[in-house]
Order: sequence, then C-alpha cells, then structure tokens
Amino acid sequence: MLAAPYIDSEFAIIHQQIHLYCTNCGYHAPYEKPLPKCPVCGEDYLHAQYDLPALKQKHWAEIIQKRKPGLWRFRELLPLLNAENIVTLGEGGTPLIHMKNLGSMLGLKYLYFKDERQGPTNSFKDRQASVAISVMKEQGIREAVVASTGNVAIAYSAYAARAGIKLWAFLPSRVPNDKMREVAIYGTEVIKVTGTYDQTKEMAAKFAEHRGIFYDKGIKSIAAMESMKTMAFEIAEDLGWRTPDWFIQGVSGGMGPIGVVKGFEELIELGLVDKVPAIGIVQSSGCDPMIQAFNHGQPVAVPVENPNTVIATLSTGNPGRAYQILWELMQKYGGAAASATDQEAFNVTKIMAQTDGVSVEPATAVAFAGLIKMVRQGKIHPNDVVVFNCSGHTFPVEKSILGDDWAKQVDLSDIGTARQLPETGIISALQNVGPKVKQVLIIEDNVDSARLLRRVLENRGGYNVHVAEDGLQGLHMVETIHPDLIITDLMMPQMDGFQVIDTIKSHEHYSHIPIIVVTAKELTVKEMARLNSQIDTILRKGSFLSEDLLQNIMEALK
Ligand SMILES: *Cc1c(COP(=O)(O)O)cnc(C)c1O
Ligand SMILES: [Zn+2]
Repeated sequence: MLAAPYIDSEFAIIHQQIHLYCTNCGYHAPYEKPLPKCPVCGEDYLHAQYDLPALKQKHWAEIIQKRKPGLWRFRELLPLLNAENIVTLGEGGTPLIHMKNLGSMLGLKYLYFKDERQGPTNSFKDRQASVAISVMKEQGIREAVVASTGNVAIAYSAYAARAGIKLWAFLPSRVPNDKMREVAIYGTEVIKVTGTYDQTKEMAAKFAEHRGIFYDKGIKSIAAMESMKTMAFEIAEDLGWRTPDWFIQGVSGGMGPIGVVKGFEELIELGLVDKVPAIGIVQSSGCDPMIQAFNHGQPVAVPVENPNTVIATLSTGNPGRAYQILWELMQKYGGAAASATDQEAFNVTKIMAQTDGVSVEPATAVAFAGLIKMVRQGKIHPNDVVVFNCSGHTFPVEKSILGDDWAKQVDLSDIGTARQLPETGIISALQNVGPKVKQVLIIEDNVDSARLLRRVLENRGGYNVHVAEDGLQGLHMVETIHPDLIITDLMMPQMDGFQVIDTIKSHEHYSHIPIIVVTAKELTVKEMARLNSQIDTILRKGSFLSEDLLQNIMEALK
C-alpha cells in the first residue's frame, strides 16, 4: 500500500491579528491587504503591527523551536493571513558562521557572517521574494512588475515561477549580463533600461500603471520590510537570544538594516533580547549618498545623479525617505558609515575567498572593505560581536574580478607521454611556472596571525615560509635559514620585536636582510623613530588584507 503523501501539518492557518499603522498621522486599521499608501495622509511607508504581548504569553520562542527550519517558522510575525498561500523554496535559516581567520586579521574576536549566500537564489532577497510573492498569491495577483539592480529580480523570478505569477523585471543595463540571463531563465520578461536605477524604477512604475499591472514597491512595501526581520530573529536565536553589537551591510535602498532593526525591536517587546544592534552601512565610493550624508551629520541625503560604479547591486542614487528612516535609527541605536572603491572591493573579494573560503559578489566585498575601515577607525572594537550580512555569491561576476592571469599552465607535451615521464621533468616544468623560491622568516607569537601571513604568501606562490614563535627562536632561525626577508611582530613575550631588530641589525652577516614589521600596536613617535632607520616597512595588522603587504614584500626582495 502506498504511504499517505507527506503533509506538513505545521502549515496550518495563521490565526493572527495584524494591524496597519501610519507613523506619520497615526492611521490604524486591521490588515486585510497591502495598501499602496496611507489612505489618510498619503505616507508611503506603512508599518505592520502584531499582538506581541499575546505572543509573549504563548511563549513564542518555545513554539518556533519545535518547527522546521526556515523563514516561515516566524509566520506569526509576517504579514500573511493564511498559511496556505506560503510560497517557499526553503529560504531563511541560513547559518551564522564564526569567521576566525578574517576576524583574527582584523583583530575581531567575534566576527560572524550571516551567510545569506546559502539561500535558494544566493542573496537575502530570497526572504523578500518568499514573503512578497506569498502576499501576491494571497491577494490573487496574477501579474506583477518589479524594478531591480539584479538580485531582487532573480529571487522574485524564482518564486513567481513557482506561484504561477507572470513577472516583468526592469533592470538598468549596467547589471551584469549573467545576472540578466539568470532572471530570464525563470521565464520573466526582462526589460533592460539604459539609464540609472532611479530612472529604471520610474519607468517600471509607469509601465505598470499604464498596463494596470501590480507594481511591487520594493522597500516601501510591508512584505519587504517584514521579511528582513527574520534575519534579526535568526541571528538573535543563534547567539542564544542575544543581540550582537553590530549589524553590517552594504546598502542600496537600506531595506535590510531597517527591517533588521524592526526585528530586534519586536524581540525586545517579546522579552527575548535587551537591545538593538548598532548599524554599519557601506556603499561604493562611486554611489554613496547615504555615507556622505551620514558622515556629514545630515538627516537628508543629496542624491547621486550619475552613479559611477560597476557594482550595480548598490546603485541607488536617490535613497529618499529610506535614508531619513535609517538616519533616525542610527542616531537612536548607534551606527557607522563607510565607502570603499570598486578596486578595494575586488581586492577584498580575493582575500575573503582565500582566507576564509567565502566567495562573494562585489556588493558584499565592498561591505567588507567598509567593515575593515570601521575597525581601523576604531569605530568597531576588538571585543564587539559583529554580524556581517554576507549575501550574494560571486558566481555571476567572477570573471571580471579574477583578471586574465588566474590559471597557470604546465605544458608537458614535449616531454613525452605521461607514463614515460621522468619525475624531474614534471618538477622542472612546475618550476618554470613561478619565480625562484625565496626564504621568508616570520617571527610572530600569535599562531593565527602567523598562519594567515603564511597563507597569504603561499597563495601567492614562490616563497618558502618559516615561522618562529618568539624572538629568541627567531634569532636562531636567522642563523640556520639565512632568510632573504624577515617579517616580525613587535609585541612578543620574552624578547620583543624591537630587541630582535636591534640584534639583527647589529650583526655584520645579517644586517642587510630586509625587515618588515607587522603590528597591531599604535606606535609612539619615539618607537617610530627607533624603527625608522632599521626596517623597510611597517604595517598595521589587518593591512595585509590589501595587496599592500605582497607589494611591500616584493619591493623588499628586489
Ligand atoms: C540588495 C542587496 C544589497 C542592498 O540591500 P538594501 O538593504 O536594499 O540596501 C546589498 N547587497 C546585496 C548582495 C544585495 O542583494
Ligand atoms: Zn498617514
């Protein structure tokens, strides 16, 4: 006999009271369907309100613990009336991963990635798409228009296909072709607009109005904002119902952080956490209206008319009201803002992949480059718990980052067939690939830092790397190895880096060896003067995140 088909009994009807609320005029009404704007004052942003005291009394945190993983575990706090309308592809429930290597590079003990790449279409837009398309289904919408810088269109396309909703996606022509094709494969009508993202949005809205099709308001819709809260819920739960000190994200419209803040505010009302994290926002230097405004203390952003960045994902030139909302939240809960260039993003992409095995799209790399700056500027402290929204896989854009020189070829064709091949033949063929091996000695007591340095060098190839764990051992190894280059830390037990350098520089056989100092310490003027005549380069720890260190090593070895 056939087993009965599996029915998910959890997906029962959601009996709940949701209200719509206008923060501008106080309009308040039970939620029946999404409204385009406040019917009283015309405000664009309406909020969803839930009966949080009732949920608290029902011990909501225990209820959700028994449910299967994923975004819809949190359905009492999402704007859907009937669970039958849920359109899901298994979104949400992404892991919160402790990034030990990148963290130790930055001197951050508690750096976590919320790995949103692991969603069905590889970005946190899966959350938005699942909620927005479910709401459309509940409202009987059969056709919809969306404007997007790429990831929203991809996610909406997947979920719309599943729900049988016809989708029109308007994308600025700057969006990489691979992403456009990804949208098209789901059967979405793709409209490329030669213009900015802001113009693309206008055009999409006009098209929808003209055709009488539902236009998705993106960040201004309740579905989008509410879906973002689920990141906050998962982060807090994974940290043992605690709030991190920081939530960091690359921003375009700002929907992610605004929604995440609302999530933490609701968790406070539920008695599950005690604070909201500070918000760190990052944009590309070629289009950073929010960063400029925030760092000049302005609550209103000056729009960037012509974004100058290849990072299309973050190319909202005019953030409008969303920035004002974000500004207020960052005043209330704390915040930091930084921009990074496209080139910095590309460098960081490789470092993230090669240091901790995380391959991301440029929008996320820009965000990480911004995080590095916030740490260096002392805005984020070594013991802060930092959660980084790691969204967007490299997959569609990899080629532009790698450049031409990404693979080495070993040609064995003229040394005969593989079977008869002498071993020296293979070895000499490999040796032709890289430069002559150079001996590098690393003197560093911090095991993680030493390992990272070693890996950076070894990734580059051509270096023979030795590690000494303290100053004394370092001096011994100078005698036995005769390194071509020494990289040393300053703060070490017993014999510190200053003494090591003094000793080497006063020895006739070794005084010529170039020395690079890598240190986390801010040096005093006196210490700086002491080092100046003796060493070749001084680098703050964390600065080998950039290509600088390799550049410096190559200079020193010349
Ligand atoms: C959408 C997106 C952003 C920007 O998100 P907002 O919160 O809407 O500003 C950043 N990074 C990636 C990878 C995205 O897909
Ligand atoms: Zn109103």
